[in-house]
Amino acid sequence: MSLTPSCQRIVDNLIRVRKRIEEAAQRSNRTSEEILLLCVTKGRCIEEIQILIKNGVRVIGENRVGEALEKFEKFGSVLSFHMIGHLQRRKVKDAVKIFDLIHSVDSVKLAYEIDKRAGSIGKCQDVLIEVNVSGEETKYGFHPGETIEAIREISRLPNIRVLGLMTMALLVDNPELTRPVFRALRLLKEEIDKLEIPNVKMQYLSMGMTQDFEIAIEEGANIVRIGTAIFS
Ligand SMILES: *Cc1c(COP(=O)(O)O)cnc(C)c1O
Repeated sequence: MSLTPSCQRIVDNLIRVRKRIEEAAQRSNRTSEEILLLCVTKGRCIEEIQILIKNGVRVIGENRVGEALEKFEKFGSVLSFHMIGHLQRRKVKDAVKIFDLIHSVDSVKLAYEIDKRAGSIGKCQDVLIEVNVSGEETKYGFHPGETIEAIREISRLPNIRVLGLMTMALLVDNPELTRPVFRALRLLKEEIDKLEIPNVKMQYLSMGMTQDFEIAIEEGANIVRIGTAIFS
């Protein structure tokens, strides 16, 4: 079967992105197996996702619960779904049904709602805590200085398990400017690690997107969330 040009482009992009991840991993003395490429499929159609599946992708990131629900009906048995966008509390009931990891816990209130809804379906929901490292007013996430206290409180919830941290860097022309943001998140993760908070495991650092994923990997990311570089 020959692929249409746009299909072929996605396949080629995927190969290129995987290569770049591998090279960045080597620069941080790791292998690409230690880094999850989370393909961000928001706004992408069924056919595009099918190409990913044919080419070995098993985890996708979505930022809207409604859109993710539709895709889950089709691909829930072959793909693992991650929530990467801001999650409204009224959407949590559906979110806990489909997402294996929620990257975007940005308030303690949201965590309480996730705990309640996960508990009601007998699930323990894995989450990451979103940190607004750059301190931009427009962004979601905890300020670095309030993160540890928030994690302590969230860690007491029985149906939620904190597995790491997530951040979004500023959109900038020079990706090198994002490095301090990623470094700060890694240092915060290491600080939290040392506290050995019960029920908290600092396993994941979700940072880096198309513009800056190589720098994020160099600074310790083990989940990179990439959309544009794969689909454009
Ligand atoms: C869209 C999105 C991404 C992917 O961004 P690209 O620049 O397309 O790679 C990553 N993280 C979040 C939270 C997003 O909303």
